[in-house]
Amino acid sequence: MDTIYNSLQAIQANIHQAKLAANRTDDIRLLAVSKAQSTDKLREAYLAGQRAFGENYVQEAINKQNALNDCNIEWHFIGPIQSNKTTLIAQQFAWVHSIDRLKIAVRLNEARPQTLPPLNVCMQINSSEEDSKSGVDISLQAMLAKEICNMPNLKLRGIMAIPAPTKDFAKQRAQFKIVADAFKNLQQQGFKLDTLSIGMSDDYIAAIHEGATIVRIGSAIFGTRV
Ligand SMILES: *Cc1c(COP(=O)(O)O)cnc(C)c1O
Repeated sequence: MDTIYNSLQAIQANIHQAKLAANRTDDIRLLAVSKAQSTDKLREAYLAGQRAFGENYVQEAINKQNALNDCNIEWHFIGPIQSNKTTLIAQQFAWVHSIDRLKIAVRLNEARPQTLPPLNVCMQINSSEEDSKSGVDISLQAMLAKEICNMPNLKLRGIMAIPAPTKDFAKQRAQFKIVADAFKNLQQQGFKLDTLSIGMSDDYIAAIHEGATIVRIGSAIFGTRV
């Protein structure tokens, strides 16, 4: 039967295999993307050992956090950020993957409660040529990184990207390589970064070959979103 437990086992095995094939010895974390999935499904994944969950919508996430407050979950915010939601995000999450402009970083830094550790953040990078894609341009990423590093309540961990979907493995790798090169470029400039958040259900194997340290997987764990 295709249970959440079985799906998690299969994905962890695939991650392990891709890691060996890519000659990597560092850690790759699985973020379970649970947007539009029921609290019962999240609990099932939690009971199967999953601890990090990614959500895209603030109110939906808070409802689930309340329903699962007996669980030791690390919550990641991965969706587009409206500036009027920054206070709740700064209070309710351990990680934010989708900072795409300075204003959002400033507001998260101001709103992060002093009682909590600094908020772990990634900059969302626009790795494609399309103007419509969200994320900061690669040419501007170092400027934003520098600003974030001066914010005491944020801890810059790395970058996140969502390249255009394609079924072609070589194209997937080529797109992720652009992101991985941008990541290495920041490291070479002296930014101490450890997180490359790339790869989803249909392309995480390619992402691991290009250096992903967090893969964000939803439908392959929970099934199609309703
Ligand atoms: C929905 C979503 C995912 C997971 O997508 P799947 O294809 O279901 O694995 C990953 N990252 C972000 C930012 C998302 O919005």
